[in-house]
Amino acid sequence: ESQLNSNYSFDNFLEGESNRLARSAGMAVANKPGGTAFNPLLIYGGVGLGKTHLAHAIGVEIKEKHPEKTVLYISAEVFTQQYVDSVRKQTRNDFIYFYQLIDVLIVDDIQFLSGKSGTQDVFFHIFNYLHQNGKQVILTSDKAPVDMQDIEQRLLSRFKWGLSAEIMHPDFETRVNILKNILYRDGVEIPNDVVEYVAKHVKTNVRELEGAIISLIAQSSFNKKEVTIELAKNVIEKFVKNIRKEISIDYIQKIVSDYFDLDIETLCSKSRKRNIVQARQLAMFFAKKYTKSSLANIGSQIGDRDHATVLHACKTVDNLLETDKEFKVHFEDINKKLSM
Ligand code: ADP
Ligand code: MG
Repeated sequence: ESQLNSNYSFDNFLEGESNRLARSAGMAVANKPGGTAFNPLLIYGGVGLGKTHLAHAIGVEIKEKHPEKTVLYISAEVFTQQYVDSVRKQTRNDFIYFYQLIDVLIVDDIQFLSGKSGTQDVFFHIFNYLHQNGKQVILTSDKAPVDMQDIEQRLLSRFKWGLSAEIMHPDFETRVNILKNILYRDGVEIPNDVVEYVAKHVKTNVRELEGAIISLIAQSSFNKKEVTIELAKNVIEKFVKNIRKEISIDYIQKIVSDYFDLDIETLCSKSRKRNIVQARQLAMFFAKKYTKSSLANIGSQIGDRDHATVLHACKTVDNLLETDKEFKVHFEDINKKLSM
């Protein structure tokens, strides 16, 4: 049993700027499994952006083009459970042997192996065996290999052997296409301006985009209401938190100072201590990112600085994100808290 879901195909995986690389690399792998430089093919990106869909699509396509190949899709979580069971039942060798017989192994959400050294070890051996024998490995992860935590170095370095392709957030045009595709599939007609309204406001991920349009269709048919922008607005509010909640500068200051265990006065003080400066610069950066305030206004609220200081802070944050890994982790943690 391949565990593949044939509802996830290339045909219904709409292409856009955000997924073009991953999608075409997936297609190349499906044409010649094990026979391209993309081995392993690692697809990474945030939740709901289509990693699982694409992983299945590749497997389904391989089954179609190369029916003689054994393809297996498995989530890293189930893989881990199976491994743990095999240790308990003393069938670890059978477990390894089973995986060595596969031609195309697809492991979804590989970040789940973080901190699980026994499973990483066994996966390392299976990976090496398959790779050496020209078999194809396809992996997905919610992070790029450089950002994965608690995964052994030797495994990380193998993840980087082939191609790591990121799936990014879909742009407006792709979001419209995805929505139209769902409407077409379900045989529903909705005015264009409403479709565009939904695409404009639901930017988080494709899963929420689908959720929003499906709820909208349901609402209109249950209540026999026409699908208007008004109705769309009501439905969308349940899906997108940011649309209601304006993040304020005060709120950003609180989140950032709590995170670094500082009080707001310290954050706003004239202190030049490195950690305080960085916290202050982060607060300015997020204020620019999440509020509509002017640079001057952000500066005056965060420690009575001028607009040039805020601009400098934003540039510094951009630079640190490129060069300082630890800083990047802090940045992402805070960003997550702010977008919750
Ligand atoms: P992830 O594994 O990255 O969290 P999924 O693959 O589960 O995301 O995708 C979430 C939903 O969005 C699925 O229903 C999937 O079919 C849909 N989806 C994602 N990307 C696309 C796309 N490019 N075209 C059509 N549907 C998509
Ligand atoms: Mg997934």
